[in-house]
Amino acid sequence: MIAACDDDDAESEAAIAVTTPADHASAARPSTPEPVFVDHADDGPDVFAGSWSTGQERLPAADAGATAMLAPDLDPEVLRAHGAEPMPDLAIPTEPVAGTIPSPAGFGHYCSMTWPSGGWALAWDTNGNDPCAFLIANSDPGGTIQRAGMISSASTNQVVTRCSDNTIFIFRGAGGGPLSAAFDAAAGHPGCIHTAAPQFLPIFQRAPWASGATVSPGTGVDFARGLAMTLNTFDFGWFSPPYADNDATIVDYRGRARTGGWINNHDAYDFGMARGTDLFAVANGNVVASRWLDTNCLGSDSEVQGEVYIRHTITRVPTTYNERFIAAYFHLQSLADLSPGASVVSGTYLGDSGHTGCSSDPHLHFAVVRETNVANARFATIQVPDGVGNNGGGRTIDPFGWTAPSNIDPWAWRAFPDGALSVHLWQPGAAPSRGNWALGD
Ligand SMILES: [Zn+2]
Repeated sequence: MIAACDDDDAESEAAIAVTTPADHASAARPSTPEPVFVDHADDGPDVFAGSWSTGQERLPAADAGATAMLAPDLDPEVLRAHGAEPMPDLAIPTEPVAGTIPSPAGFGHYCSMTWPSGGWALAWDTNGNDPCAFLIANSDPGGTIQRAGMISSASTNQVVTRCSDNTIFIFRGAGGGPLSAAFDAAAGHPGCIHTAAPQFLPIFQRAPWASGATVSPGTGVDFARGLAMTLNTFDFGWFSPPYADNDATIVDYRGRARTGGWINNHDAYDFGMARGTDLFAVANGNVVASRWLDTNCLGSDSEVQGEVYIRHTITRVPTTYNERFIAAYFHLQSLADLSPGASVVSGTYLGDSGHTGCSSDPHLHFAVVRETNVANARFATIQVPDGVGNNGGGRTIDPFGWTAPSNIDPWAWRAFPDGALSVHLWQPGAAPSRGNWALGD
């Protein structure tokens, strides 16, 4: 079977690798109901130089039985822990929308499709052409685009492949390499959906505060949460104390076990600062919500917390591949007059920081929610639970990305149906200091 091909002629149908049903007629089908984890995260950088690296696999109709996607929902355990019920969904567009941020250079696209028969296809293009249009033009009707998004043309990408027979593959490598590896590995499995993301997607232009502000960085994003409350950090390349722990409850972006004062299950960054510190949008975007929420938390200045949510959409052509993120700012004591849908630019004033809601000291809780190509959906439905000061839902990611010595982002697949691949979103030089959380970087 040809998994991927390098061909300079993007229009040539001969360039497309298509396996016929006969290729799989005699393939052994896994029968175990348990997830099978195949770790190819360190297969190394395979760079494919061709303008198209495209693969498509189709399974015979007899292999019908792709499982239905689970509805996105907040982890009920987290909800119970906070004694809260989810609020109504925020207004999330479920189709590609106009972008507010010009796409950075050096990115291409991928497209993952499935068919009701259990067939699936994966195509990608590191030059920025349209692999979904390509697949639709060259395959049977009735397919569904399950994922469509951005990949780095030559730098690191991560891929999670989840098939309807409960097989999971993970890959990390340069350019189209991990996508090619995912395609190869999934051959013979039904209903495979491939979710990819670049390690770096530089769109945040500045810190959320003015350059002269006095800020004390605190705790960061814990990757051991949701349905993966503990992780084995040996998996991530740590073999001696204090970072090695086969049952770690707090795991940082480097895959290290963290103990001593860091907050468990936290899904954002906390930055200590005086009440009344001006806060600003980190990039161009649109207001999702600017509101007061009664958290029922005692001990701070007010049970009622100021919150701002800004959607950041990257423009790609076509918009099929636009990626979207929401930056969330919590514990504010005053809010700028921002209506839902209003445009903001990098540096738009959002309000004043404070000590409201579930807060032990004056600080900003800065979270990023991923809206596109999350673990279980092309478009996420974001629920923001009532009364929760440190949880933006199951699609919060680390905006500094995942950079462990080995393996890929565990939040991208261990917490399914929650989770999403984290991406480093700051432009060079724009990221604020994370203090001791980033020790050893
Ligand atoms: Zn926080």
